[in-house]
Amino acid sequence: MKKILLLSTGGTIASVASNAGLVPKETGEELIKMLGKLPYEIQVRDILQLDSSNIQPEEWKLIAQNIYKYRNDYDGIVVSHGTDTMAYTASMLSFMLKNINIPVVLTGSQVPINVVLSDAHDNLRLAFAAAASCPPDIYLAFHNKVMLGCRSVKVRTTNFDAFESVNVPPVATVSSDGLVFNKDDDFQKKHDGNPVLNTKIDAHVSLVKLFPGFDPNLLFAMVDSGCRGIVIEAYGLGGMNFIRRNMVAAIGKLIRQGIPVVASSQCLYERSDLTKYEVGREALLEGAISACDMTSESAITKLMWALGQGMNVNEIAKFFGTNVTGEVSLK
Ligand code: ASP
Repeated sequence: MKKILLLSTGGTIASVASNAGLVPKETGEELIKMLGKLPYEIQVRDILQLDSSNIQPEEWKLIAQNIYKYRNDYDGIVVSHGTDTMAYTASMLSFMLKNINIPVVLTGSQVPINVVLSDAHDNLRLAFAAAASCPPDIYLAFHNKVMLGCRSVKVRTTNFDAFESVNVPPVATVSSDGLVFNKDDDFQKKHDGNPVLNTKIDAHVSLVKLFPGFDPNLLFAMVDSGCRGIVIEAYGLGGMNFIRRNMVAAIGKLIRQGIPVVASSQCLYERSDLTKYEVGREALLEGAISACDMTSESAITKLMWALGQGMNVNEIAKFFGTNVTGEVSLK
């Protein structure tokens, strides 16, 4: 029988109604009790009891440390987590736990487990099945899909089908045959060494969604307040304005000051490509780094991790041109 650890961290899945709204209260043991019998030997550790809106870099480190600590004692680890920031946690864990040697599967639910028609039971069962049978990696399992953690995005606020695997297919889906793995798994990075725990990050970064009229001077105000790197969700393929409010010039100036600026797209699907239009090429000439087809969740966590390693702008540009953990498809 496979031995699986449940690390519980809170979220809706573990929430109960209170005068203050839904509050995470159920322990991991209680989740397992309500789930009923599964064909695995399950052990539980409660490491946090938070709504995931309260999960921040300190909690990412704690979760990563626990996974690393127990990686050799179990065949797989399930992390129950709130859905709101689960994609960020999954992306960050992918960088903090490179080459993890067991499957680690994050899951949660849209409705608390103690509600009759909750989606928690199905999602937890899926997560345990994935932790028992997927190749080693960081995953997010939700509503019949097992996705690479660093490619997952929460796309719906209440629907049970809340997550999507962006720009790569899910690793596996559920059918009447059980867990059906995607045969074309080229997008899943093959591990190339021993597991490494590296939780050094610099969270002094920002993610700016560009809109017509945005004042580029605000970027300098952020840097004056300690911001060390910026991801800009630019338009379409990655274009940015350079007339009147000159984003392109601002980016050049920031980069010359040693502040990496990554250009991603506001479009959820497909890649940014700064080479196609003048509005992208100009930014590229100024040194903007393309996020290619990464999710914004992956781009911002990759930037935090890179800064935490002490990389300079050139090293970060090179790092973004590298597929570290399956987060990006490079042409
Ligand atoms: N606010 C909750 C959380 O992220 C939402 C959920 O879990 O579905 O913890």
